[in-house]
Amino acid sequence: MENYQENWESVIGLEIHAQLATQSKIFSGASTAYGAEPNTQACAVDLGLPGVLPVLNEQAVSFAVKFGLAIDAEIAPYSVFARKNYFYPDLPKGYQISQFELPIVGNGHLDIDVDGETKRIGITRAHLEEDAGKSLHESFHGMSGIDLNRAGTPLLEIVSEPELRSAKEAVAYMRKMHELVRYLGICDGNMQEGSFRCDANVSVRPKGQQEFGTRAEIKNINSFKFVEKAINHEIERQIELIESGGKVVQETRLYDANKDETRSMRSKEEANDYRYFPDPDLLPVEITEIFKAQIKAQLPELPAAKKQRFTEQYGLDCESAGILTSSRQLSDYFESLVKESLCEAKLCANWITGDLLASLNKTDLDIADSPVSYQRLAGLLIRINDQTISGKIAKQVFELMWQSNSTADEIIDEKGLKQITDTGAIEAIIDRIIAENPGQVEQYLSGKDKVFGFFVGQVMKEMQGKANPAEVNKMLKAKLK
Ligand code: ADP
Ligand code: MG
Repeated sequence: MENYQENWESVIGLEIHAQLATQSKIFSGASTAYGAEPNTQACAVDLGLPGVLPVLNEQAVSFAVKFGLAIDAEIAPYSVFARKNYFYPDLPKGYQISQFELPIVGNGHLDIDVDGETKRIGITRAHLEEDAGKSLHESFHGMSGIDLNRAGTPLLEIVSEPELRSAKEAVAYMRKMHELVRYLGICDGNMQEGSFRCDANVSVRPKGQQEFGTRAEIKNINSFKFVEKAINHEIERQIELIESGGKVVQETRLYDANKDETRSMRSKEEANDYRYFPDPDLLPVEITEIFKAQIKAQLPELPAAKKQRFTEQYGLDCESAGILTSSRQLSDYFESLVKESLCEAKLCANWITGDLLASLNKTDLDIADSPVSYQRLAGLLIRINDQTISGKIAKQVFELMWQSNSTADEIIDEKGLKQITDTGAIEAIIDRIIAENPGQVEQYLSGKDKVFGFFVGQVMKEMQGKANPAEVNKMLKAKLK
């Protein structure tokens, strides 16, 4: 497989749709809340009834500007809404309000990390538009149901330059973007509910060739796993096609996750001519410097800056800093834990990226819903720090904390897990173990250093892990001479 792709380079550009987290729709007052009974959240404007006029939601504009500032983009001082005309049952007006020639955000960039290297990906534009309704095919025999609750929901369409060179880079880009919109608080990022989805444009060209190949566009992918699979699949299909003498045609394809394949939806010839024109019902949008400055003042610390700060301020390595800044909640949890416990930042980071995240993953929970709060975790770390318990026992205590509401101290008391620092008690056990294992003593004294571990293990076992390991090491060293 690898070998066979060696002579080819893939070129990918993504169009990401992020649903903006406004309370009401982009041109009406209807609610955008997810999951309501079908057709209970579509008003006369969303339905496109005659005589109604759209009114632009200022919050949606603020969010778009916020995004533009975060990717270092040009914010258009003057942008225009356009009608994109096509016919589909879930589009009541017969056109979608979008932006075409003059989008609100132009020309920015986002840095991604792939295989330890940072690569800057250009963002061509981001524009505001309304979402369409939904066609429901299940539970309607021989018919389709139409739910217009989603009609008029604000979307930001973010278009990348064709600068991604592998499925892996595309996934890294999509993840970074997902991280960013959640940081900014402009999109909830819920991919199952379709709040964050993408279309992938894919082409291949012989290595070294300047000119791009013909692209296919894969529509509506709503998971990181599917993006990677769909793109790899499409790259393979195109290479096979060209190598067997065929030609890629420009078309729209659909990814079928069940079969792990892409299928043609429509070719360029069948594509719609959208007959774009400026929407006469809406005024152009003018963004003033003051408006921009107000939004700039509200920008939170962004993931890249926070990651950098975490390495400098807390002395974390890049990998841990990257994990801890992958969401605002996670980075807040970390910083609260450091403050609350007053323990070394590295200890805090290790517990979060280790036991805590592993447990959250296992139970499929988000950090916001963690059964162990930062306050309770701080209680545990304090007891490691003051040597009441060893790191190993702490793992047991953590497990028990996960399953209950008890504090670390309550569990340590209740289960009698306090570390034994009483040197007399440790010494007695050491003496006994040395007496019982003359063979091992001889081996150790004749230079087999590894046997030392055996003694440590025996003592710890005998003391049910509650001896202070440093103390045990020190005393054993002194006795085994
Ligand atoms: P359209 O309006 O038809 O969707 P655009 O020119 O706006 O076309 O491009 C859409 C996306 O396709 C962009 O993300 C762009 O980077 C990407 N793209 C353009 N040409 C290619 C190509 N040859 N191969 C891969 N992606 C491409
Ligand atoms: Mg497109």
